Amino acid sequence: YAGKKNTGALTENMLSLKVKDFMSMPIVVSENMTVYDAICHMFLEDVGTLFVIDKNMRLAGVLSRKDLLRTSIGSQDLNTIPVHIIMTRMPNIAYCEKGDPLIATAKKLIEREVDSLPVIIEQDNGLEIIGRLTKTSITRAFISLAETHEL
Ligand code: ADP
Repeated sequence: YAGKKNTGALTENMLSLKVKDFMSMPIVVSENMTVYDAICHMFLEDVGTLFVIDKNMRLAGVLSRKDLLRTSIGSQDLNTIPVHIIMTRMPNIAYCEKGDPLIATAKKLIEREVDSLPVIIEQDNGLEIIGRLTKTSITRAFISLAETHEL
């Protein structure tokens, strides 16, 4: 059992996991992009959530797969509707910062019932997006804990 740690160490390791070590690249689009182009973008970038930025490059909203699906099954013209019409907008966005404990963001994902959080830095003119924290990030962290322990 060399290398196997006790449960106290496991808890300690879990609390020491930080957002910055598990976040991934944020994929952002402009608030004037059409819904049609956002759908193409989501497929090309292979993500489930797009972050929408304003003209100052600050967080304006979030677009999920269902937001785009909902709009697509309506009768509207996807080539003329800009994403800011259909996105979930600030200040109703749940987000996190790079130094936050990962466990706190996992809780936020569950409580807000969302798949991802933008990782942000607060600036004078809004929130700068520096990363993306998703349920996949949490799953990767879960595996990393197991790697330091015998299964
Ligand atoms: P999906 O709708 O594809 O299952 P989500 O569960 O992440 O994806 O999104 C559900 C709803 O919550 C959508 O309307 C989306 O715009 C919104 N949403 C997604 N992420 C966030 C977030 N971090 N903060 C606030 N709202 C969000």
